Amino acid sequence: GPATAGLYGQSDDVVLLDTSTVHAHLLNSNSAWFVELYASWCGHCINFAPTWKALAQDIKDWRPAVYLAAMDCAEPENVQTCSGLGVTGFPTVQYYKAFAQSTREGRRILAPHGDVQDNVRILRHMIINYLEKNEDTWPSACPPLEPASATEVQEFFGNNIEQYLALIFEDNESYLGREVTMDMLQYENIVVRRVLGSNQELVRQYQVKSLPSLYVLSRNGSFSNILLSRNERSLYTSFLQTLPGVVQGLFTIIGPPNTDMNPEQLSDMWKHADKNKVYMADLESGLHYSLRVEVSKFSTLAGDKLTALRKYVTVLAKFFPARPYLKNLLQSLDNWLRSRANTQISYSDFRNMVDNNEQVPDAVLTSDVTWVGCQGSKSWLRGFPCSVWTLFHVLTVQAAYNDQYQLKETYPLEVLDALRGYVQHFFGCAECAVHFENMAKETMTLVSSMNEAILWLWSRHNQVNYRLAGAPSEDPQFPKRQWPSFDMCPTCRNMVRRRSTWIEGSILDFLKAHFCLQNIATDYLV
Ligand code: FAD
Repeated sequence: GPATAGLYGQSDDVVLLDTSTVHAHLLNSNSAWFVELYASWCGHCINFAPTWKALAQDIKDWRPAVYLAAMDCAEPENVQTCSGLGVTGFPTVQYYKAFAQSTREGRRILAPHGDVQDNVRILRHMIINYLEKNEDTWPSACPPLEPASATEVQEFFGNNIEQYLALIFEDNESYLGREVTMDMLQYENIVVRRVLGSNQELVRQYQVKSLPSLYVLSRNGSFSNILLSRNERSLYTSFLQTLPGVVQGLFTIIGPPNTDMNPEQLSDMWKHADKNKVYMADLESGLHYSLRVEVSKFSTLAGDKLTALRKYVTVLAKFFPARPYLKNLLQSLDNWLRSRANTQISYSDFRNMVDNNEQVPDAVLTSDVTWVGCQGSKSWLRGFPCSVWTLFHVLTVQAAYNDQYQLKETYPLEVLDALRGYVQHFFGCAECAVHFENMAKETMTLVSSMNEAILWLWSRHNQVNYRLAGAPSEDPQFPKRQWPSFDMCPTCRNMVRRRSTWIEGSILDFLKAHFCLQNIATDYLV
């Protein structure tokens, strides 16, 4: 959109619309839109602008469920568009429910005339009322706002993946619970629900003495009544946002371009990576590092170590979607290792094979290291461990395709076994190896199909992400999140009725598409 639109600027949390963008934003959107159509010369509009800016600031955490927008109808190229929206006087505030199909569905809202803080409160309540009126077209990112029932609360941890359930007990007329629920919608690991004071069962169960009051229930079964100095929205919200393990999710928010990139990211060295893609450069760099650096720690390879190496190379040769030269190299390496089963080999012989000193025609593993999707904002962040995860996700998905189309014989645990052996015997991060082996021991053997193998690795990776959120190894530019984020796969989570339950069927489809051959980009390959 334009850099400024009359009364509003880029820093205002108001989406600036014009003739070329207005329909694309307001119609068939995942979000509910409240748009102010104004004329920059009109006195009422100038008076109303501080309210609209303050409201946008006040509910900026409600994005992407709810957006505030503005369009200057005094701009010559917008005049026609504004009359098409039915605007006859200024300012006109309109509401477009999510998934509105035509501009005729816009509803006019009266702009209040009081002082800014009163106006903001009135409009905030009005927005909630409008959302509730359109239950059929609920914005994708909008949490449920209706009061929770006793059954929902009692079954919550069985049905959901979050760590916390916050309950706000209140009167029916109170907006506090719904406002705090909206304020928390970008945050993961927590669900906020209002409970009415008339819900005898829950009031008794939690011994609620006054309204409103805040209770936080944890997955481990504990609960506590949170006593804050005042029963105010901002105090509730900041308390909940800082609970351990509660993190802001990754949402794509429509707004001014992000200007808090760090200097390294702005430099010429920074490689552009699309998080919706997998990069072959990461996979090849990771292969080089694993075979030439990690395995080289051992001068001789025998017994379980050799078996682990052989299984790793076998799944690479079978399933790694390699470029032809690399495919040849992996094949010859695999054949060579198979012919040396039950013996002992020296790393230098193995290395000769990796470097193709035997001169198999057209067989090469690059020794170039270029991280793209795995690039860190500092040289010591991300890189190799990121490529190991990525590689094995690719392999579980490729193995499933090979099985489905009967291209190669395999079995559900083949890739996971290879990963487990690699991590146990070669992965340089010893602490990681211990953690991973514990997870593998617990549940890996329960995997009984190719699809379950894909899902097992995905869900264990998310467990690791959960554990590592906020750890020193976390790249601040790439925070550890439950993956895929909402905007990468809106259909992967059930966000409407039971917030953030994973929908395994959709996850599986997503993983198979994300880690398929067609989604592996070859940018920055040497
Ligand atoms: P990574 O977690 O490495 O993920 C790489 C990429 O995979 C992401 O950028 C994303 O595109 C995608 N992704 C993210 N989550 C998922 C998912 N659930 N399913 C599919 N794809 C996903 N570090 C420690 O400090 N302690 C440990 O105990 C530890 N254990 C590890 C165990 C293993 C087996 C591995 C391979 C790594 C381990 N690490 C551990 C390293 C850590 O998990 C990260 O790899 C590292 O911190 C780099 O993080 P990253 O931001 O690049 O993302």
